[in-house]
Amino acid sequence: MNFQWYPGHMTKARRQMQEDMKLIDLVIELVDARIPLSSRNPDIDELGRQKARLILMNKADLASEKQTKRWSDFFQNKGYYVVRLDARARAGMKDVNDVIMEACREKMERDRKRGIKNRPVRAMVVGIPNVGKSTFINTFAGKACTKTGNKPGVTKGKQWIRLNKNVELLDTPGILWPRFEDQRVGLHLALIGSMKDEILNIDELSLELIKILKENYPGILEERYGAAETAEPPEILMQIAENRNCVKKGNELDYSKAASLTLDEFRSGRLGKITLEFPKEPQ
Ligand code: GDP
Repeated sequence: MNFQWYPGHMTKARRQMQEDMKLIDLVIELVDARIPLSSRNPDIDELGRQKARLILMNKADLASEKQTKRWSDFFQNKGYYVVRLDARARAGMKDVNDVIMEACREKMERDRKRGIKNRPVRAMVVGIPNVGKSTFINTFAGKACTKTGNKPGVTKGKQWIRLNKNVELLDTPGILWPRFEDQRVGLHLALIGSMKDEILNIDELSLELIKILKENYPGILEERYGAAETAEPPEILMQIAENRNCVKKGNELDYSKAASLTLDEFRSGRLGKITLEFPKEPQ
């Protein structure tokens, strides 16, 4: 990731999360819609059990609409509330708000039966680095919200953002580690640009991307780069280099340049709306 996780960090993050969980009713988990599995924390289901759960499929503007829909169904079938989102846009926030209210209706009903009135629902944003947590909090909470100060009984220093009369949000997101022991996960995180590029082999990364595109998005490589998609990935990379005039001194093809260019165009969405992971069909 953009920063390294060490066992000490993970222990601390986990402990912090366990403490924060005691304060909240609803876990708002952000995932990257392009890699909905690889961008999830391996322990969040355990940490957030017994809480209402909302998954925000963020950066949906960069993901395949069809696949986001499939993932959304997949998560809903497992009992999560799901909203697809571009956290930079205010437009999607109404849906989030509606779903938060729905997710919390049960809790408010329970409160009401116990005679507890008007206790706001408390929520917290969690996710691995770079999924858009800060962006979401800023857009969602916006300027209109007032920050509430420390409250009795609440850990010192905790700030709550009052979203409306019913909902309060912890103002700092919970940052959790990814499932990085799995190579495929590391690869997908690297493809979306959540790893430092200098520690990666760009050429190999681009070949993996080309392989995924060739297998799942027929026509894209041909249309954008004039590449023959029947060719093997290294051959396709060569065609991209030729097509985009990626040459070094002495007129030699510059594969690394072609590789960076392809990755850049994917990450920025110029290659199209592309999801890298697919939900398994129900058996
Ligand atoms: P955090 O580490 O989870 O807090 O992530 P940030 O909020 O810092 O966002 C990481 C990057 O993703 C920033 O460059 C954001 O502008 C960008 N970003 C966040 N949400 C979206 C989104 O929905 N769509 C796109 N395209 N970019 C986003």
